[in-house]
Amino acid sequence: TARIRIGIAGYGNLGRGVEAAITHSPDLELVAVFSRRDPASVTLLNAEVPVLPLAQVADYTDAIDVMILCGGSKSDLPEQGPQLAALFNTVDSFDTHARIPEYFDTLDAPARAAGKVAMLSGGWDPGLFSLNRLFGEAILPRGETYTFWGKGLSQGHSDAVRRVPGVKAGVQYTLPAQDAIERVRRGEQPQLSTREKHQRECYVVLEDGADADQVRNAIVTMPDYFADYDTTVHIIDDATLAAEHSKMPHGGFVIRSGLSGESTRQIMEFSLALDSNPEFTSSVLVAYARAVYRLQQSGQCGAYTVFDIAPGLLSPKSAAQLRKELL
Ligand code: NDP
Repeated sequence: TARIRIGIAGYGNLGRGVEAAITHSPDLELVAVFSRRDPASVTLLNAEVPVLPLAQVADYTDAIDVMILCGGSKSDLPEQGPQLAALFNTVDSFDTHARIPEYFDTLDAPARAAGKVAMLSGGWDPGLFSLNRLFGEAILPRGETYTFWGKGLSQGHSDAVRRVPGVKAGVQYTLPAQDAIERVRRGEQPQLSTREKHQRECYVVLEDGADADQVRNAIVTMPDYFADYDTTVHIIDDATLAAEHSKMPHGGFVIRSGLSGESTRQIMEFSLALDSNPEFTSSVLVAYARAVYRLQQSGQCGAYTVFDIAPGLLSPKSAAQLRKELL
């Protein structure tokens, strides 16, 4: 059977991850990468795949079955999502949680008008974590859901650290508080404050002549970003930063602590430990691209989230094969 033809819109960390994931999916084929930058300046893992100007994407509607949108959630997807949903089946990882309902609406209308499927907010959070929060609530309606993140590199908090005067370079990790996780796993259902759930750890390289204590103080007291957390600042050198802090790890836990029957304790837990956040997120998007294609082939259209897509559609295996092997 013919392979599903995939396009990538935007080639950053996720774009690269999608390219890599398709290489390991024999039923999918990467047709082209579209970028706003000069195509000559964008180097793919596989030099045989063409890089094309995003401005010309409308010429390729017949050549691509699903476009995977790899732009940033802040300003790329709100603009590109609705435009591309009018032309292609799409999948994206929009992760501004508070804006997902309004983003859904901006995709639903153009996708319906075009008879296409637009899947938004795939990935792990939102995405696989959202599914597990739903399972927890639906199965154990009497209970509490806890989401812990980390250990993970936070892009936004790393940027904030780098803007502190005297900081030359740096990264920030979010860590789940182990004692809080243990209390939840024991079924205590604690009310946890921001400070009790997560800690923050910064690794910074100082500019020549910068005062370490001043930098430390500026970071740990920064409102919104660090003031509400217990934050540790480690001063390191360029070589250590390059050697030990150039990966993008992330992950976390979704735990539902609930009761069944009279007062029978039940704990559900889903966890991820990711060496590369973007490569994993991309792998989720690629599996959903397969599902989106099948949905549209079966006559569906409009905006979809992880809640609306049957899990069997993610697999390259047939429903009969899945019943035999995995049920
Ligand atoms: P990047 O910043 O690496 O890429 C975003 C866009 O920036 C690209 O599509 C690309 O567009 C452009 N770009 C990339 N590299 C360069 C460069 N060197 N110079 C100029 N422009 C460049 O973001 P990520 O791929 O890491 O993440 C994308 C989004 O994924 C994030 O905003 C986040 O919201 C989301 N995400 C979601 C997760 C989830 O679980 N749902 C998890 C992780 C991330 P172009 O090629 O057109 O220039």
